[in-house]
Amino acid sequence: MECVKSIVLPISKPAPASAGVTGTWRTYRPVVNLEKCIDCGLCWLYCPESVIDWEKGEKVKIDYTYCKGCGICAEVCPVKAIDMEPEEGV
Ligand code: SF4
Ligand code: SF4
Repeated sequence: MECVKSIVLPISKPAPASAGVTGTWRTYRPVVNLEKCIDCGLCWLYCPESVIDWEKGEKVKIDYTYCKGCGICAEVCPVKAIDMEPEEGV
């Protein structure tokens, strides 16, 4: 039997190529209520696309070019500071 010398696993991450852009098909977008946000960083930690920009003491920012609207950030936010709002025209 032949040995498999290496296994390459796919890694999901945002890419600058057109295949990574989600703006045309996302149906919901996460909107952060900064007044409710307690700066915990959980949304940043759990976002599967790594499109949330967060640093302690800085405002949470989401890159909508690559966000797929999955809603995980809204689910994990302990104070419900993220609302999933319908995209206009989708
Ligand atoms: S909706 Fe999904 S992809 Fe978009 S910022 Fe939240 S966790 Fe990331
Ligand atoms: S998970 Fe919620 S409270 Fe925590 S940084 Fe993100 S938006 Fe703010």
